[in-house]
Amino acid sequence: MRDARPISTRDVSGGVQRRALHRTTGFRSTIGEHSGAAPAIFASPHGLCAVAARAQDHQSLGADHLAVAAHRVGTTLGAYCLSEAHAGSDPSALRARATAAPDGWRATGSKSWITHGGWADHYTTFLRTGDDPRGGISCFHIDGRSPGLSPGAPERKMGLRSSATTTMHYDDVPIGADRLIGRPGQGLGIALTALDAGRLGIAAVAVGIAQSALDYAVRYACERETFGTRIMDHQGVGFLLADMAAATEAARATYLTAARRKDAGQDYSRQASIAKLVATDTAMSVTTQAVQVLGGAGYVRDHPVERHMREAKVTQIFEGTNQIQRLVISRHLARTAR
Ligand SMILES: Cc1cc2nc3c(=O)[nH]c(=O)nc-3n(C[C@H](O)[C@H](O)[C@H](O)COP(=O)(O)OP(=O)(O)OC[C@H]3O[C@@H](n4cnc5c(N)ncnc54)[C@H](O)[C@@H]3O)c2cc1C
Repeated sequence: MRDARPISTRDVSGGVQRRALHRTTGFRSTIGEHSGAAPAIFASPHGLCAVAARAQDHQSLGADHLAVAAHRVGTTLGAYCLSEAHAGSDPSALRARATAAPDGWRATGSKSWITHGGWADHYTTFLRTGDDPRGGISCFHIDGRSPGLSPGAPERKMGLRSSATTTMHYDDVPIGADRLIGRPGQGLGIALTALDAGRLGIAAVAVGIAQSALDYAVRYACERETFGTRIMDHQGVGFLLADMAAATEAARATYLTAARRKDAGQDYSRQASIAKLVATDTAMSVTTQAVQVLGGAGYVRDHPVERHMREAKVTQIFEGTNQIQRLVISRHLARTAR
């Protein structure tokens, strides 16, 4: 049992061009089975950038490279730059700014928590172009080699250590006029549309983490003996594992429901938030219980379940914390109250 088995990728998402159902279920045998949750989460900013680009009619973009960014995921690395130090849950508070210049725009300010910061080929960046909190945000596609664009020091994280997360600094970065995605002021809508899709992927990643922790804990419980019998045969452990299995299966159903709605062209924002909320809370509780099933062995790095627990935690935080998912869901409920 002393192998470092990776996160299950039965659930995590793949390329952005496939349909949501395939995307959320089809990645398991490629990246993640060999190297854990971080590569799976690698896919997420790609997807966010691509959905942002595709959220708008390409003809109105007037930028071939946006189509390239959207369709060549896998050959280039994208970063999605929305959060700032004082604007995480509330993106309408963002301050980094783009000002009009004769040849396009100039960007100044900083973005926080940027996955792939310093490594990405392109940065889908949300910048203030007007004073209205929500209507004054625009979305830009910025080349990673642009002068004035630089990463801060990598964050020292609890988990996901193979994925770089940094602040990105914009020091008078030139942005060509054709690098605006959509029209000025449409940025927040684009950001939120992309996040709806991204939440499906995060839900799938979370279920993959839960499944891996569960599988490992079951194997351990079938080998480890106390009081002359396998711990699996102690009802306290067997029922705990049964509850973990039931929760994981139920969480899987939530993102599949949302993915099917997306593929059918139906509104899926509420279902995506429900999937993200349920799946990531499930991942947190299942991985914590997996550590419990292993006893002391669960608390050391010889076994992967402590890593599963650390990686589950971030899924409750990024792409909208689970409190924000509750906000989204409750607002939908209020809008559709009968
Ligand atoms: C590893 C990692 C990678 C990330 N990658 C990216 C990335 O690539 N791009 C990007 O743009 N961002 C990224 N983020 C940022 C992430 O999206 C934010 O951390 C997240 O949205 C929360 O924002 P915050 O940290 O500022 O917390 P805050 O907004 O300060 O929230 C603090 C607490 O208050 C709660 N809270 C806030 N508002 C409300 C409310 N209205 N009701 C109830 N509770 C509330 C929150 O749920 C949270 O518990 C990443 C973060 C991490 C940790």
